[in-house]
Amino acid sequence: MKELLNKYQFHFKKGYGQNFLTDTNLLRAITTDAGITANDVVLEIGAGAGALTQQLAKVAKRVVVYEIDTNLKPILEENLKEFQNVTLVFQDFMKVSAQNLQNEVGTTFKVVANLPYYITTPILFKLLEETTGLQSITIMVQKEVGERIVAPSGNKEYGVLSVMLQHKGSCSIKRMVKRNMFTPAPKVDSCIVHIQLYTYTFACESMFQKVVKQGFSMRRKQLANVLQQTLGVAKETIHIFLEKQHLPLTARAEELTVAQFEALAMYLQENT
Ligand code: SAM
Repeated sequence: MKELLNKYQFHFKKGYGQNFLTDTNLLRAITTDAGITANDVVLEIGAGAGALTQQLAKVAKRVVVYEIDTNLKPILEENLKEFQNVTLVFQDFMKVSAQNLQNEVGTTFKVVANLPYYITTPILFKLLEETTGLQSITIMVQKEVGERIVAPSGNKEYGVLSVMLQHKGSCSIKRMVKRNMFTPAPKVDSCIVHIQLYTYTFACESMFQKVVKQGFSMRRKQLANVLQQTLGVAKETIHIFLEKQHLPLTARAEELTVAQFEALAMYLQENT
């Protein structure tokens, strides 16, 4: 890969989060972590030089990959020329319309990506909010972000990202990846997170999102006070809920499990 990058005089752009992978064993392991089979359509975000794309294309039925940097075009075309099952799209993934994305990936698909770290959270929310038929997400993220995603209630890392993602699927860290595995090496270590998405849709989704976002907006304050202030819900209404859940009336958002946030959303939908 390095020869190819030199051949086209490619310069890494820090602003695009360009830290590429080259280790074939690691790339194969990511494909295995994602559980990719010959029946799968894979969406990759950020092709880089195409090292992960190659491994995915060897196993999957089809790979659709988005890349923002058109300087990578000749490198990718050369690196991926033997794969007929890869669709390369040179576009800012954040600007792809929900309809165009769905047209590319079809009815069911899996996401596998070594994400550009500067937009990890917006990409995750875009995927969860704008797509249908997404089965799983397997992504390389900054180690600290991975730890936030899988954090249980009561943990200091537990917050909006943990609750939102654990509500959508079963989240686990598959492996830790040291910074020296990347070219160029970033300043942080990374990890592979796998999210196996649930198939059911939650009836009180919009209330759930409101309660979680507002609940954590003032982390140190008691949940009853925060929701009174931000959503205009009477403090007593929240107290009744907390009592039913055997939680202290002074509970803060970080003390509620994901299931308790779901119960709170259903309770507020019925009682407000
Ligand atoms: N998949 C490659 C690998 O594993 O070696 C590259 C991963 S690198 C961490 C992230 C890639 O995402 C870079 O190639 C970068 O140019 C691309 N990228 C950054 N922002 C993007 C965006 N908004 N839309 C699409 N691709 C983007």
